[in-house]
Amino acid sequence: MAHSIAIIGIGKITQDQHLPVIAKNPNFKLAALVSQRGLQQSGVPTFRMPAELYAAMPEVETVAICTPPAVRHAIAREALDAGKHVLLEKPPTPTTAELDDLVAHAARRNRVIFATWHSQYNAAVDEARRRLAGKKLRSLHIEWKEDVKRWHPGQEWIWDAGNFGVFDPGINALSILTKIAPAPTFVKSATLAYPANRDTPIAASLVFSCLAAEGPSSKFTAEFDWRQQGEQSWNIDIATADGEALRLTHGGSKLFVDGALVLEKPMAEYEGIYEHFAVLLDEKKSAVDGAPLQLVADAFLVGKRSMAEAFYW
Ligand code: NAP
Repeated sequence: MAHSIAIIGIGKITQDQHLPVIAKNPNFKLAALVSQRGLQQSGVPTFRMPAELYAAMPEVETVAICTPPAVRHAIAREALDAGKHVLLEKPPTPTTAELDDLVAHAARRNRVIFATWHSQYNAAVDEARRRLAGKKLRSLHIEWKEDVKRWHPGQEWIWDAGNFGVFDPGINALSILTKIAPAPTFVKSATLAYPANRDTPIAASLVFSCLAAEGPSSKFTAEFDWRQQGEQSWNIDIATADGEALRLTHGGSKLFVDGALVLEKPMAEYEGIYEHFAVLLDEKKSAVDGAPLQLVADAFLVGKRSMAEAFYW
């Protein structure tokens, strides 16, 4: 039988992905929306607060929480206490301790919790992981540069502390890194550039160490920037010790090896997320990978602050 699901937070990603993907997945049936602004979808009721949903429709078994991350822990705890299985948009929570708490609480309540990392659901990412398994790496560089005004127009929350700033897209690259790296990677140093009038970084440079490094001269770095004009770049370049050059482009949907395109599939990240979620629900298993969040948390821990020009929309 299809799993009844309600969505909490009807913003851009819910409208772009969750609603259409749920609509075409026979394993799910949209039961309700929870929207502070009261946004509607034909055929299902809208509630302003999750508690109203839980009181009115106790039969709803699952919720997808698609709010900004800073408010997610309290919403997820309330859902678990109401007996719901929980899907979390990325990044799952603003801190690693809150994520640990949700995992423990879901286990106590015998509920499924699933922390999604949409960029991991690309065939090219799986292929890169397969090719890198067991190898030593000479270098790895992430270049994740986009125009915040184009991709997050009017989203004031991204500048609130706890909502990640440029790490909101940057954590997508880190979720690919933690999936494909053949051994654990650690943040050694970081520079975080804060606009003079904002509380989250608009750019960040990271230096990593990696247990798969070929030697002391191996370089592992990342550049995130929200001020990119013109062509947008979501690329990861990897050089292996045996001389192969892998390049993931377009957010992880294309893989080049030694300059030749070896894999390109149309993006179906959220289709993959909901297929995985159906299996987790059927098997009553949780899936929470905290590694990408840990890298961001560590960048904030070791990061130096630099001042950037004030940001205005
Ligand atoms: P958004 O358009 O701003 O939508 C977030 C929605 O959450 C709001 O519209 C609001 O909807 C609800 N909400 C509840 N509490 C809120 C609060 N305190 N502040 C602001 N909104 C609140 O944001 P989004 O782009 O959909 O991003 C949401 C999450 O999805 C983020 O974690 C982001 O990283 C992730 N994500 C986004 C994209 C993308 O392309 N935009 C892609 C992948 C993942 P209601 O009024 O309906 O309650």
